[in-house]
Amino acid sequence: MEERIKEKIARIVGPENLTDKLIDLIAYSYDASPKSGRPDLAVWVESTEQVSKLLALADQERIPVVARGAGTGLCGLAVPARGGIVMDMARMNRILEISIPDRLAVVQPGVVYANLQKALEPHRFFFPPDPASGQMCTLGGNVGTNAGGLRAAKYGVTKDYVLGLEVVLASGEVMRTGTRTIKSSSGLDLTRLFVGSEGTLGVVTEITLKISPLPNEKTTAMASFDRLEDAGEAVTGLMHSGVIPAVLELLDKSTINLFREHSDLDLPAVEAMILVEVHGNTPDDVAFQMNRVAEVFRSCNAREVKVAQTEAEAERLWLVRKSIGGLTGKISVSQAPEDVTVPMSRITEFLRRCEGISRKHGLLILNYGHAGDGNLHPNVMFDRTDPDQVARLEKVLTELHELAVDLHGTLTGEHGIGLTKAAHMHLEHDPVAMRTMRAIKHTLDPHNILNPGKMDLD
Ligand SMILES: Cc1cc2nc3c(=O)[nH]c(=O)nc-3n(C[C@H](O)[C@H](O)[C@H](O)COP(=O)(O)OP(=O)(O)OC[C@H]3O[C@@H](n4cnc5c(N)ncnc54)[C@H](O)[C@@H]3O)c2cc1C
Repeated sequence: MEERIKEKIARIVGPENLTDKLIDLIAYSYDASPKSGRPDLAVWVESTEQVSKLLALADQERIPVVARGAGTGLCGLAVPARGGIVMDMARMNRILEISIPDRLAVVQPGVVYANLQKALEPHRFFFPPDPASGQMCTLGGNVGTNAGGLRAAKYGVTKDYVLGLEVVLASGEVMRTGTRTIKSSSGLDLTRLFVGSEGTLGVVTEITLKISPLPNEKTTAMASFDRLEDAGEAVTGLMHSGVIPAVLELLDKSTINLFREHSDLDLPAVEAMILVEVHGNTPDDVAFQMNRVAEVFRSCNAREVKVAQTEAEAERLWLVRKSIGGLTGKISVSQAPEDVTVPMSRITEFLRRCEGISRKHGLLILNYGHAGDGNLHPNVMFDRTDPDQVARLEKVLTELHELAVDLHGTLTGEHGIGLTKAAHMHLEHDPVAMRTMRAIKHTLDPHNILNPGKMDLD
């Protein structure tokens, strides 16, 4: 990058708030995916005004700009694929307002997810999406990816909570979208357009979020099934039961075997396990819901249904789900955690066909994930130092994406598209939809400076 441009940037953010040191640029080359791309410069921004001036300059000079939260994205989202400037949003980390009467919180994008929860807890409120990376990831990143989590089955995902945004466009213009009201039917829904746009349409500088009252009570249960088909029936059966579980997680046989062979947790030799959590306001309420859930599990031939009687027991049951990430490292050098999503009625078919893909290419796929919303996490075990395995992995990923789309699902339930799935956008979106997305991108960012190379939008 030319010195004269660096000088202009230094005048905007202050010379101490930018870096072109190799060690910093290498750190900003990565997110939590295997992808990388080195920026020419990284800057720490502190205000909307700075973001606006920086984007206006970058647009004039045709320099790519990548907004970065905590860099925990799993698809090469914040990786600067075409160099340019990484705009680190971490210092814009103030919670500007919590209004219980209006049921909302206004935050800057660099606020870490868990810090908002901490601030809401004394009010007995929460922001429900609950990504597993919540201790690290930022709300700006959550908006960028439309993040979700374990509780999406009942509470939905980030897009269900974003009421309004302040966004800086590529031109440097500042735009407000949405409202401070829970409802609005006014105009085109620009807020939703930006949620999940992966920093390709604008840089979010303020977020107005709907918040929800914390449930008073919760209960957990675990059920095991000798046949995968019975577990699939149980998931769809629950949908008929009138109970919407807050969390509904499924573990397949490969994942259960991982525990049986590599942990002290004593899991039965079954084809599938389901973990469920229900939320309610009174002990009777949750007991009623859990009885219905247990009835459904038993009617679907569950070998065993364990309902936690104490919080400690519930924690022991959840330990299984929480330990998966740590255990996979014991059996594989590298992993490709996917997040394809299928209609709940197609989960069993997805898992069976996944087993076929695994056999065909000789790579182990562990399947676990959010059965309550069809968002599975087929995690492919491979060795990235072995070119043959890497080539087979590419085939596996392509076939997993094709399978999800074939079952009327989607390439991604929560992680996003970024670099890793960009080449498969056409599988899910028809040519007219792709043309429309590119036209929107071109209108908002005519010089393609905002996170170029992502989502196949160029
Ligand atoms: C261990 C682990 C567990 C995870 N679990 C989950 C999970 O349960 N659910 C889930 O959804 N994800 C999960 N993720 C993925 C990741 O945490 C989420 O995608 C998260 O939303 C990314 O937030 P971030 O702050 O790290 O954003 P980054 O990775 O820095 O950026 C993500 C995207 O958002 C854009 N962006 C960031 N800030 C802004 C802004 N201010 N304006 C415009 N665009 C912006 C970036 O350009 C990029 O495209 C997990 C990741 C890890 C490593």
